[in-house]
Amino acid sequence: MTQRADAVVVGGGQAGLAAGYHLRRLGVDFVVLDAESAPGGAWQHTWDSLHLFSPAAYSSLPGRIMPAQPGETYPDAQHVVDYLADYEKRYELPVHRSVQAQAVHRDGGRLRVETDVGDWSARAVVSATGTWSRPFLPAVPGRDLFTGRQLHTVAYRRPQDFAGLGIPPGRSRSGRVVVVGGGNSGAQIAADLALAGIDLTWVTQPPPRYLTDDIDGRVLFDVATARRRALDEGRTDTGGVASLGDIVAVPPVRKARDAGLLQAKPMFTQLTTMGVKWADGTTAEADAVIWCTGFRPALAHLAPLGLRGPRGRIATNGTRAVAEPRLHLVGYGDWTGPASATLIGVGRPARDAAREVAAFLAD
Ligand SMILES: Cc1cc2nc3c(=O)[nH]c(=O)nc-3n(C[C@H](O)[C@H](O)[C@H](O)COP(=O)(O)OP(=O)(O)OC[C@H]3O[C@@H](n4cnc5c(N)ncnc54)[C@H](O)[C@@H]3O)c2cc1C
Repeated sequence: MTQRADAVVVGGGQAGLAAGYHLRRLGVDFVVLDAESAPGGAWQHTWDSLHLFSPAAYSSLPGRIMPAQPGETYPDAQHVVDYLADYEKRYELPVHRSVQAQAVHRDGGRLRVETDVGDWSARAVVSATGTWSRPFLPAVPGRDLFTGRQLHTVAYRRPQDFAGLGIPPGRSRSGRVVVVGGGNSGAQIAADLALAGIDLTWVTQPPPRYLTDDIDGRVLFDVATARRRALDEGRTDTGGVASLGDIVAVPPVRKARDAGLLQAKPMFTQLTTMGVKWADGTTAEADAVIWCTGFRPALAHLAPLGLRGPRGRIATNGTRAVAEPRLHLVGYGDWTGPASATLIGVGRPARDAAREVAAFLAD
């Protein structure tokens, strides 16, 4: 049986909840469909030591300040999960869990959201599926030759998994790990391993660019907002956050860096059966390679709409898909609103999307 709502939000992480908050305030009849069996979106699956790069109050969704975590300036991921669970309960958001949207089709004047447990028919769809379910791995020669363990950021949990445990029989027990990637995930995972005494080779391209130690998520949000304002007012683009650096020097990264444990090497050119090899012929043996090489937007469910553009993105005007005005995209990154892939930044694009959906439905 096909169920009906005026709007369907696909994805119940922070972006979907922020959209739901505003849709509810505007009196829209909507549901949120979320593939997870529990609240918290991707925050349920991060590594054990992950802490936010902003204090709690600067990591808040619309309507409700994130409470501080006792004893922590920068809350951990479980604190975010708890906050999101409380948020959806507090605002009575109609989240349907363990529901995977598989395809969105045009269906006359409506959109049909096909899921693994039945269809929903809606007049508008907000897609808020994040990026965590689409890890990106670069095509590097020899990836299929390497006999050690390969994993992406999404599968990393803790250094102890590499201190002998989980390493295939017959290989070294020393836990030699190559971490690939010079972004925040790469730096934080490299620091996590190095501080635990794992034999680390950190590979980045280009060399790591640390933000100064006094810059955290608060400053980044202010910079992203100022950039948006400048662009809106036709002033010169200052380059925003990217012009400042790539890596927020969160306390563990700072500690490992200052102890000389984060010496980055340039990117290798190939994997071998036993490790990695650089262009000049030097090699490093490894038991595991961790690819901290980013994500792509999880938009496979939108494929039937034929909207896909370069880098797997969809052309948008604000959050609205240019070629499908009944579809909005929220939370995927700056291309769907400045800092929209952060807790504090997603509020504004979520509000804009909800307002446009409400106006469209009223038309
Ligand atoms: C390592 C890391 C550290 C970060 N640190 C910070 C930080 O300190 N501060 C900050 O503000 N931001 C941080 N971010 C960025 C951002 O806040 C998170 O990535 C956040 O999880 C994005 O929220 P989201 O709702 O867009 O996506 P998600 O949290 O991924 O939620 C998307 C939801 O949609 C569901 N879904 C996906 N596809 C479907 C489908 N087809 N049908 C139904 N449901 C679907 C998923 O199961 C999930 O529940 C960090 C990101 C990463 C990767």
